[in-house]
Amino acid sequence: MAKKQQKSILSQAEAVEARLRELLGSSVFDTWLKSLCVGGLKDGILTLFLPTNFFCSYIARNFADEITQAWQAENPEILRVKFEVGSPAFSETPDSAEEPKTERPQTVSSPELIETEKDVLSAALDPRFTFDNFVVGAPNEFAYAAARRVAESKTPSFNPLYLYSGAGLGKTHLMHSIAWYIREHDPSRRVVYLSAEKFMYLFIRAIRYKDTLAFKEELRNVDVLMIDDVQFLIGKDSTQDEFFHTFNALVGSGKQIVLSADKPPVNLEGIEERLKTRLGSGLVADIHQTTFELRVGILESKAQNSGVYVPQDVISFLAEKITSSVRELEGALLRVTAHVQLMGGEVTLERTCDILRDVLSALDRRVTIEEIQRKVAEHYNIRVAEMTSKRRDRPVARPRQIAMFLSKELTTKSLPDIGRAFDRDHTTVIHAVKAIENLREKDPAFKEETDSLRRMLSV
Ligand code: ADP
Ligand code: MG
Repeated sequence: MAKKQQKSILSQAEAVEARLRELLGSSVFDTWLKSLCVGGLKDGILTLFLPTNFFCSYIARNFADEITQAWQAENPEILRVKFEVGSPAFSETPDSAEEPKTERPQTVSSPELIETEKDVLSAALDPRFTFDNFVVGAPNEFAYAAARRVAESKTPSFNPLYLYSGAGLGKTHLMHSIAWYIREHDPSRRVVYLSAEKFMYLFIRAIRYKDTLAFKEELRNVDVLMIDDVQFLIGKDSTQDEFFHTFNALVGSGKQIVLSADKPPVNLEGIEERLKTRLGSGLVADIHQTTFELRVGILESKAQNSGVYVPQDVISFLAEKITSSVRELEGALLRVTAHVQLMGGEVTLERTCDILRDVLSALDRRVTIEEIQRKVAEHYNIRVAEMTSKRRDRPVARPRQIAMFLSKELTTKSLPDIGRAFDRDHTTVIHAVKAIENLREKDPAFKEETDSLRRMLSV
């Protein structure tokens, strides 16, 4: 029996790998998680093996939650994940899977794996995801304020609170923060945090066993129910009906519900209209793409937490280049600081470029200055040749400045390089970037226009 279980675990491992690659990016996965080996599952505890102590504690500290959630999504029997140094020694004996033999495995006691004993229902919470560790800036201040309000109020303030944003911008962080806050300040309130997949699994299982009453009963003791990534809440119409009623019952009995998704309620696919309306009937708060200032703030805060000194030029460089999501930004910083911790020495700009060569060249491949010039010229109906011409009248000069600005934002080219591509020197580029930044601040329509150009170029 154990052997059979082992087999299915190994096949689940493939799906988990795919999930983690998607979530963390292949370069982070290859750097850190490739050497993970699956041991056995016993009493809901899945053992994973890593080759060295360093890897083991590093991964327990930094990726435990992602790994746990990825596994739970594949196999809801898993309650928690344990990391050990060594390698699984499978033999043909049936019970080997349950008791992997290792050379004196050292269990890393990881603060990440905080089990909520009475809450088998709730997924593990990441101790790093607290309000204190959340850097607030213009793109996320509304969502942050809403999350704080929910955490601080004894009765539901807006129900549901629906957070949405692109990937890696802090939704899960805010949800965990709410849970931590309530646990600390009002432990009598019961908080349950679940991925939509896990919620769906429990819910469908309850329906299948005609046990929805028991499920509702279980939820009745919950004061705050959080469901993460509800874009995965898909199901047959009958399931959605049932969900709709459960949802209404929960709201009706004063339970606070917090949801997150990657899009606003109206854009959720495969979900009935009335359910969409219901999901959007409380407060909908979105987190916008990060700004340069926020990225600097986040990097400074994370660098400080890492205990490695990261000089300002490296911070600005990373904040300038890695604009896609906080997760990627964090991943890049992590690679740099971990490298320095492992190999010694100091963080320098040169070393950063070296460590992140693959990431940076991938960014470079994304878009070239020529493409930017072409797209911008096309958008403003001017000839591409005007990008390098001497003409200085507004209808030509403004698009040229926009193209310089976007070249700086979207490529890793230096200012002199950008200047050369426009037949100008770098001071002209600096001037152009400043001018466009000012305009973007003053004129929302202009900001939207340049953002949309940027989006077009980033895909
Ligand atoms: P999402 O759920 O929106 O995909 P997460 O909440 O998982 O994103 O965030 C991805 C990573 O970025 C996490 O490690 C999180 O701590 C970090 N992060 C996101 N926004 C912030 C922020 N404003 N301050 C600090 N860390 C952040
Ligand atoms: Mg998330």
